[in-house]
Amino acid sequence: MSLFSKSIGIDLGTANTLVYVKGRGIVLREPSVVAIETKSKKVLAVGNEAKNMLGKAPETIEVFRPLKDGVIADFEVTAKMLNTFFKRVAGLIFFNRPKVIICVPYGVTDVEKRAVEEATLEAGAKSVALIEEPIAAAIGASLKVSDAQGSMIVDIGGGTTEVAVLSLGGIVEPGSIRVAGDRLDEALIEYVRKTHGVLIGESSAEAIKKTIGAVHPDVQPQHTEVRGRNLYSGLPDKIILTTADVIEAISEPIGQIVNTIKRTLEKTPPELAADIYDSGITCSGGGALLKGISTLIYEETGIKTYIAKRPLDCVVDGIGAVLDDLESLSGVLSYVKSR
Ligand code: ADP
Ligand code: MG
Repeated sequence: MSLFSKSIGIDLGTANTLVYVKGRGIVLREPSVVAIETKSKKVLAVGNEAKNMLGKAPETIEVFRPLKDGVIADFEVTAKMLNTFFKRVAGLIFFNRPKVIICVPYGVTDVEKRAVEEATLEAGAKSVALIEEPIAAAIGASLKVSDAQGSMIVDIGGGTTEVAVLSLGGIVEPGSIRVAGDRLDEALIEYVRKTHGVLIGESSAEAIKKTIGAVHPDVQPQHTEVRGRNLYSGLPDKIILTTADVIEAISEPIGQIVNTIKRTLEKTPPELAADIYDSGITCSGGGALLKGISTLIYEETGIKTYIAKRPLDCVVDGIGAVLDDLESLSGVLSYVKSR
C-alpha cells in the first residue's frame, strides 16, 4: 500500500484532463488546453481559461491542445500542462511529488506510452503506472471486469472512440477509431458552411452539439441561433439550426463509430458475445451524452445499450477505484516507472 500513498489518478484526455486524489475524489476537471506566449514560450493559461481563448487569440498567443487522437502531440506542452495541474491540486493536499496512475488508450505504441510516462515524470511525478483506458472506463462504469463474464464498453471521447470487450480483467477484443467529439464538431462546421454559407468556429460548433445535438430522430427536437461569418458577404451573420440539422450533419462520423462497434462484436468469441447479449453495451465519455445514442446503438446492433451514470468521469473514477483497492485491482496496471 505504501507504494501508492499520496497517490493520484489522472485521465489525460484529448479534450479533458481529470485528477483523482486518493481519499478525496475528483479534485480537478479542466480542458486539455494550454495558451502560450509565442515568443517567450511562457505558459499564459491552462485549462478552462485557455479554452476560452481558442479561436480568439492574437498572433502573440498560441492556444494549444497538446493531445491529438488520444496521444501526446506536443510533449513539452503536455508536461507543462500536467505540471500546472499538479501544482493546482498540490495546494489542496500538501504534497509535491505524487505517485501517479495515468491512462493510455488501448493499442498505442510503446513510443506513445513512453511519452505519457516521461511527460508525467517531467511534470513532477515521483512514479508513474499506466492503465488502459477502456479498462478504467469499464471499472468506472461499474462493469464487473474481473469476472469470467464478457462485457462491452464504448468510450466516445474527444479524439478517439475506444470499444472493448472485457473479461477476466483484460481486453479480449479491442476496437478503436480516430473519430469522436472533435470530428463531430468538424462535420457540423462543414455542414453549416455548405448548407447555409456561414462559417462558424470550433467552440460554437461544440456548443451547438452539446445543446441541441442528437444522433437519432426519436428525441425532443430543439433549435438554436448560431452566429458566424457569412461566406458571401464576409460579414457577421446569424442562422437557426435545428436538432434535425445536427443529426444530418454528424451522421457520417456517427456511422463510422457504430460500424466500429459492430465490427468489434463480429470478432467477439461466441461465449462472450452471448454474455454481451445479456449484459448489454455501456457507453462512457462525453460522446455518450449525445441525445439518442443508446437508441441508435440498440437499433443498429440489437443489443441493449446503457449510458454510464457520469460518462465524463468514468475513466478517472475507474482509476480512483484502482487506487482505492490496489490489492484486488493492481493486476490491471502496467509496470510502474519511477525517477
Ligand atoms: P477525452 O477523454 O478525449 O478528453 P471526454 O470524454 O472528456 O474526451 O469527452 C469530450 C468530448 O465530449 C468533446 O468532444 C465534447 O464536445 C463532447 N461532449 C461533452 N458533453 C457533451 C454533450 N452533452 N453532448 C455531446 N457531446 C458532448
Ligand atoms: Mg477519455
